[in-house]
Amino acid sequence: MMETIEIIQLPVGPFGVFCYIIYDPITREGIIIDPAGDPDKIIELVNENHISIKYIINTHAHADHIAKNQEIKKATGAPVVIHRLDDEFSKTPESIEWNRKLGFDETPPLVDIPIEDGDELSLQNFKVRFIHTPGHTPGSCCILIGKNLFTGDTLFVGAVGRTDLPGSSFTALLESLKKILALLPPETIIWPGHDYGDTPTSTLEKERETNPYITDFLNE
Ligand SMILES: [Zn+2]
Ligand SMILES: [Zn+2]
Repeated sequence: MMETIEIIQLPVGPFGVFCYIIYDPITREGIIIDPAGDPDKIIELVNENHISIKYIINTHAHADHIAKNQEIKKATGAPVVIHRLDDEFSKTPESIEWNRKLGFDETPPLVDIPIEDGDELSLQNFKVRFIHTPGHTPGSCCILIGKNLFTGDTLFVGAVGRTDLPGSSFTALLESLKKILALLPPETIIWPGHDYGDTPTSTLEKERETNPYITDFLNE
């Protein structure tokens, strides 16, 4: 099993969420992470690259990240995958209220496959592993594929996700950062959920050295 996967990083929707289309160039099997907007553009890229989408995966259940799940599901037939706790949390009145405030008047994400920490999804030539990293939301996950970590709103380039929202916890977020720093090698590539940094990607090593939330709060 070689790490030959291709990664398309695509800013979509009104909040500039990074949607990711990830696929194996040989088998053409792929997944989509956070189809948050511009579904036509996403489907065009999928078709152009002849990708067979196997899973639609959300890093967390905020409306700006799940916005086009159902349209992409209709187009690809792939099931929606999300952590069980965000599936549950997204159905609470406080979460629905917050999503309305963001301007998304919609129902919770209609999850097909709720996952837990450490769960893996296997495609023919690569594996997708879920690392539960609560803090921004109760069921936020970082998604590991080879040496690539898709961090959603847990870890940005030079920052972290908000923890002043319903269901957020700054303490939990710091624990989650500790967890990924302990678990993964420094050369791990960070693919964030928004383009908030100086660069669109980073590495765990660079974040350990320069991200103020790590340098100021996690100095051991
Ligand atoms: Zn979020
Ligand atoms: Zn976000």
